[in-house]
Amino acid sequence: MLDQTPKKVVEREALRINPAKTCQPIGAMYASLGIHGCLPHSHGSQGCCAYHRSHLTRHYKEPVMAATSSFTEGAAVFGGGANLRQAVNNIFHVYNPDIIAVHTTCLSETIGDDIPSLVNQARDDGLIPAGKLVIHTNPSYEGSHVTGFSNMCRSMVSYLTESSGEKKNQLNVLPGFVEPSDMREIKRILRKIGAPAVVFPDTSDVLDAPQTGKFNMYPKGGVTLAAMKTTGDSQKTLALGAFASEDAAKMLQTKAEVPYEVLDLPIGLAATDRFIEALVELTGNEPPASITDDRGRLLDMMLDYQQYLYGKKVAIAGDPDHVIAMTEFMVSMGMIPTYVITGTPGKKFTLKIKAILRDVNPKAKVKAAADFFELHQWIKNEPVDLLISNTYGKYIARAEDVPFVRFGFPILDRTGHSYFPTVGYVGGMRLVEKITGVLLDRKDRDDPDETFELVM
Ligand code: SF4
Repeated sequence: MLDQTPKKVVEREALRINPAKTCQPIGAMYASLGIHGCLPHSHGSQGCCAYHRSHLTRHYKEPVMAATSSFTEGAAVFGGGANLRQAVNNIFHVYNPDIIAVHTTCLSETIGDDIPSLVNQARDDGLIPAGKLVIHTNPSYEGSHVTGFSNMCRSMVSYLTESSGEKKNQLNVLPGFVEPSDMREIKRILRKIGAPAVVFPDTSDVLDAPQTGKFNMYPKGGVTLAAMKTTGDSQKTLALGAFASEDAAKMLQTKAEVPYEVLDLPIGLAATDRFIEALVELTGNEPPASITDDRGRLLDMMLDYQQYLYGKKVAIAGDPDHVIAMTEFMVSMGMIPTYVITGTPGKKFTLKIKAILRDVNPKAKVKAAADFFELHQWIKNEPVDLLISNTYGKYIARAEDVPFVRFGFPILDRTGHSYFPTVGYVGGMRLVEKITGVLLDRKDRDDPDETFELVM
């Protein structure tokens, strides 16, 4: 446990202790699962693939299918070309996907395997059946799982987008590294507003597919290859979350001249308002009553629970796009973000958070490429009323006895996140309920008998 974490903060440059991130290929694997009929392929040793699959399985509570090049000593010395050829051949014969999405790992990155050449050679040698595809991305050493996700989204555009020369009445929406439930909610909002769109990647009905009693290697969800092809004919791309989605949107603009706009993840009232406003402007349609009613309900909850939320100090850790939107949401509820960190590097994270907190808490500690160890030290020195982070924050919450809300990736010890969204007005309501719940649990636990209330 973390009871021995020292209070004294020592400046560190290179060392990370309990990093608030995981490695790039996990994000690339997750993005690949958002293509219908796709088998992600990890080009490296079995251990990496096993770790990435199990991490995703533990978060989504669903079996995650992925293949591996199974490097041994020979591949580490001579390169993994032969392994990849063998893998491609086996995968199409045994598992018959429509597409294989290859991502490298540290080992194959270090060797410097030239994946496009290896794939071209495999195609020339007849190892890739007609009509089947192999795409790839190099997650590289930089960044985090969010970077890996972003790189695979960019590769989807680079390999799969086409332009027919005729524009279609549709948008592209990149939902970011969010839950299947969030992607489902984004699609529901698009339908309600009457905005035809290609959402990609889309893991809804892949990692939250209903139990039917039958095993289906490729569930019905995921963006289809036919839909992906048309993304070059769309009117515009909305990239939700700069860190996860902007690069792919940029690539679409470069490749097919589809203009793009970057929006924050629609988490919380204001960010969802901006998403809806963008859709209204692009379609010329007014939001239906069901959407404005959802908004009204979220606003009502925020007002009703003000007495419990106002002035509460909160620490937020997680992926940059999530943390940016969450920080704005906390401010809109009168809470005071005091420590805000992400494990993913990037100056624009700190700039954006500082802009959000300028009038609320300019002295807040904000850091990118940060770790849980330092966050714990800050909390030890000046406690907060609430911690919001992925599952790894539970050690800090336990050591410091802080109310804790699980949010983001990964959540390894609770369920529900892949079924109930946190995006949109409906997702905002869920977050208010969760946050208020843990704060009221704390009050119930700490109140003396004379102020212990039945009705709160
Ligand atoms: S070796 Fe690299 S790719 Fe494999 S699990 Fe470790 S950090 Fe991830």
